[in-house]
Amino acid sequence: MKIVPKEKGIYAFSKFNKPVETVKPGELIVLETEDAVGGQVKSEDMPLENLDWSRVNKATGPIYIEGAEKGDTLVVDILDIQLAPQGVILVIPGAGVLGDLKFNPRAKIVKIENGFAVFKDTRLPIKPMIGTIGVAPEGDEEIPTAVPYKHGGNMDCAEIGKGARLYLPVSVDGALFAAGDVHAVQEDGELCVASVEIEAKLLLRFDVIKGRHAEWPIVETDDHFSILTSDEDLDKAVRIAADEAVKAIMRAKGWSFEEAYMFSSLGVKVAINQVVDPKKGVRAIIPKSIVTINDLLTSS
Ligand code: CA
Repeated sequence: MKIVPKEKGIYAFSKFNKPVETVKPGELIVLETEDAVGGQVKSEDMPLENLDWSRVNKATGPIYIEGAEKGDTLVVDILDIQLAPQGVILVIPGAGVLGDLKFNPRAKIVKIENGFAVFKDTRLPIKPMIGTIGVAPEGDEEIPTAVPYKHGGNMDCAEIGKGARLYLPVSVDGALFAAGDVHAVQEDGELCVASVEIEAKLLLRFDVIKGRHAEWPIVETDDHFSILTSDEDLDKAVRIAADEAVKAIMRAKGWSFEEAYMFSSLGVKVAINQVVDPKKGVRAIIPKSIVTINDLLTSS
């Protein structure tokens, strides 16, 4: 099996990146990933002023997927996420939802023990997820790995965990996939700007849907699809997600806009992914009883 070490990574998604590995659809691959602060914080005593911010949010890759071409959809099966024995969480003045308040920069080491993340005297079941995951964006743009958008990126969506299937829009030959920024556990919102940032090993398998296009990333879980949208403005992110969901319902059911729009209040749930990244992210959740993946993709 191919294994890509964590040293082979990028800080921006771009068609100009050179692939570090090539895989065929169906082939298994392991990506080793750094934690989001580049492994720089190993102790709670480390002065955070010394952090090298040019080394944060590295994504391992890019991986060239054979047969993926512009206009296709890349399918990513997240088969397993193995965590390192400990992660770290940070608070930094100026960052996060309460960044305007007066407080000190602090780091806390969070150990992973028997399936739990240990935060002081409190244990939370781990729910490993991939924070940053994506492909090269359309055009000549280089999008920093800290930013979420249509190509994926720093979506910080708690649903992108073991057993999930992610669909990403392919804009260049080979897709140029990369991933990193794993969290041991993160709740919707990611309020303080970080989560349990942790090194990990990802077991992944790719497939390609030819000639069908996802406008925004889509996650598939056991019982639903989530359309992941993002914008600097949270209301706009919600509006984009609602628009995509209503269009998918129209395609699925053959209903008019008015009917699908009405139904969206009954059958579509909107949830927050995170409200702390350069673009805020939400998801429109639609049960599999209402739409199929085919209804969520369009012909290229
Ligand atoms: Ca993140």
